[in-house]
Amino acid sequence: MNKIEHIGIAVKSLENSNDLFARLFGQAHYKVETVASEGVSTSFFQVGSNKIELLEATHSNSPIAKFIERKGEGIHHIAFDVDDIVAEIERLKHEGFKVLNETPKKGADNKMVAFLHPKSSNGVLIELCQEIKP
Ligand code: ZN
Repeated sequence: MNKIEHIGIAVKSLENSNDLFARLFGQAHYKVETVASEGVSTSFFQVGSNKIELLEATHSNSPIAKFIERKGEGIHHIAFDVDDIVAEIERLKHEGFKVLNETPKKGADNKMVAFLHPKSSNGVLIELCQEIKP
């Protein structure tokens, strides 16, 4: 793994939170993107070299809706940049981590992504991301 790619925060209202975090960071989000397959609308902020992703559920069955139901709004996942997501999934499986999707899928912000089950990583949902190169 290379570095933290972004931190994901679950919010009830992207509109309200875009405004809140714009005031916090002193700058607006730079993109909004819906990932229909995941049931989320996302927005991204660049803060120095760090990136923050806000996630809002698009329907009541979305993993984000369920997360907020259980835990309320807050930090949802930490995403790590990897060079070869397929190799990294294999490596982590061999290390005993439970990978939620063994086949990487298209995520937001031009990334292939995979998630590790939080039960295998001390309650932290870990996202692996590999940038899709043109
Ligand atoms: Zn993410």
